[in-house]
Amino acid sequence: MAKKACTKHVFITGGVVSSLGKGLTSASIALLLKRRGYRVRLQKLDPYLNVDPGTMSPFQHGEVYVTEDGAETDLDLGHYERIAGVTCNRNSNYTTGRIYSAVIAREREGGYLGKTVQVIPHITDEIQAAIRSLDGDDVDIVITEIGGTAGDIESLPYLEAIRQYRQGIGRQNGLFIHLTLVPYIKAAGEIKTKPSQQSVGILRTIGIIPDILICRSEKHMAREHKEKLALFCNVEKELVIEEVDVAHSIYEVPLDLARQDVDIYILEMLNLHVNALELDDWKRMVGTAISPKAGEVDIAVVGKYISLRDAYKSIYEALHHGAIASDVKLNIRMVEAGDIEEKGGQLLEGVQGILIPGGFGERGIAGKLEAVRFAREKRIPFFGICLGMQCAVIEFARNVCGLDGANSTEFDSGTAAPVIDLMEEQKTVTQKGGTMRLGSYTCLLKPDTRAAASYGALKVNERHRHRFEFNNRYRDALTGKGLVLAGECEGKPLVEIVELKDHPWFVGCQFHPEFQSTPLKAHPLFRDFVKAAVKQRADGA
Ligand code: GLN
Repeated sequence: MAKKACTKHVFITGGVVSSLGKGLTSASIALLLKRRGYRVRLQKLDPYLNVDPGTMSPFQHGEVYVTEDGAETDLDLGHYERIAGVTCNRNSNYTTGRIYSAVIAREREGGYLGKTVQVIPHITDEIQAAIRSLDGDDVDIVITEIGGTAGDIESLPYLEAIRQYRQGIGRQNGLFIHLTLVPYIKAAGEIKTKPSQQSVGILRTIGIIPDILICRSEKHMAREHKEKLALFCNVEKELVIEEVDVAHSIYEVPLDLARQDVDIYILEMLNLHVNALELDDWKRMVGTAISPKAGEVDIAVVGKYISLRDAYKSIYEALHHGAIASDVKLNIRMVEAGDIEEKGGQLLEGVQGILIPGGFGERGIAGKLEAVRFAREKRIPFFGICLGMQCAVIEFARNVCGLDGANSTEFDSGTAAPVIDLMEEQKTVTQKGGTMRLGSYTCLLKPDTRAAASYGALKVNERHRHRFEFNNRYRDALTGKGLVLAGECEGKPLVEIVELKDHPWFVGCQFHPEFQSTPLKAHPLFRDFVKAAVKQRADGA
């Protein structure tokens, strides 16, 4: 029987500084390889000690991205799913904490048979097993992104592991890409290659010579810069690729890399046939994102991590997808919930849509409730997601149903009207990480609702990350005053979607639709929320 060719591996490391967009670059390369006919998977290895990012504050880490199978993961997985269209799972993200937990658990079970357990080989072997976990008959190329920067102490075991891995599979089956910064020094008017030379030097000391250098830069590099980097970093001249800051949209990055044939070089080095590249739909989408034809729209996002763009990454992306679908320019007004508490709803004047994203804890709740009231009373399209839906229910209970002090028991455990309450199965949970209601569940939609019209289906799957839920004891009180329960979990009486009928567009959902939105196919709820906002503007409301 013919043996299936070995899965090919691409390892992406980062140099000089963090935040160069390694996730975006990895996802863009994956898209190109997919569009050349290959089956690609992506993975992120994070060198920190938390077992997963689920317990970290968004201020530390940005958004926690949730996979279909319920893993709480790094936000780069959002790029993988949105841009490359690759479905991720819990093997798509490992952290040092997870690797060590597995090794220590095995040691306690006597799994190392009397040996001294060490970083090398036991931790590096465990990292290699994590990489191998994505191999399979249904995949051609695995792209593994190493978090952090070459030179970080905590990255060392990862670099050693990928060095060994490539040694094991051979050059024709694995390659190294180093994403590095080539800064432009304004005062000197010069581009500098030295930091990248040093970063590659660090990789070389542990035995990795990058095959491809991708240089993040503000300005285009001259030929001499590329030649210098090629010479001192031991890389072929044509494999010094530049990734200059894109002018308008991050979705330009794959096109920029394709122009420089990165995907062709990768396939040639991996001994894979270079099939034709099909990117017409992507190009059209980028064209719309860059120069929309149908005007603009202003949407407020009311949250408590507003100063940090990464905290609501998927939400902002999904709103942009909605704007692409409506062919409009999107202006996002980021409003700090605490500021609404101080200055009132005037901070929301002039927007055509208000979105409240997910969140935890009491801080900012009063401002969010005020934002819901503003949207409901002034008939501005409203979209509440997870905590945003819970706020919509609380506001409705207080101000429409007259349930004074209605609240979630997350914020007031002794409230007289707990319209949002801890889920039954959460009551015995004491551990924090990975213990919420997580991942994809089936939701059944009621016909003749906004949600059903948006989805064009009565059965959908959506991802969750929460502990609290709509309290069914208040079903009659709230629906009696006009709250529509538009979606419920299949097989369990959990309310998943609420709506208002007598309003231009008012929807709250307990799940996170933003995780399933892509630039080529906006999530139906985001698409229709933005559409409602565009109509609002056209109507001059
Ligand atoms: N804090 C709320 C809960 O746990 C909402 C969670 C969220 O918005 N992701 O139910």
